[in-house]
Amino acid sequence: MSPAGLAAAPTIPETGPETPDIDLFDALTVVDDLPCRRAEEDLWFSDLPADLERAKALCGDCPVRRACLSGALERREYCGVWGGEILDRGAVIARKRPRGRPSKADLARDAEIAAARAAAGVA
Ligand code: SF4
Repeated sequence: MSPAGLAAAPTIPETGPETPDIDLFDALTVVDDLPCRRAEEDLWFSDLPADLERAKALCGDCPVRRACLSGALERREYCGVWGGEILDRGAVIARKRPRGRPSKADLARDAEIAAARAAAGVA
């Protein structure tokens, strides 16, 4: 029996099939104040490049942006916006192309973005 006035020590539940592991990102996603929880969730997984750019901008205010991106890269998320970046098959891409053949302007902009990212040391 514990001494009067002292609460019993908290118990840590064992992990197993009935109690799945919860990682940092899962815990943080329950926080309703994250931008992706406040805005339309479809933006983060849209097929439209403009929607993904909007999601990236909204991620800019997120307090867990770095953890979100590193977790997504670790898990090799297949698609979507994570930590302010667009992931495609587990890798960061500069931007999602619209359907169809890219225009010369798009290709030039992609080259500029890639050069700027390389200069900044971003993969
Ligand atoms: S950084 Fe991650 S957690 Fe934050 S708004 Fe973007 S997708 Fe959501």
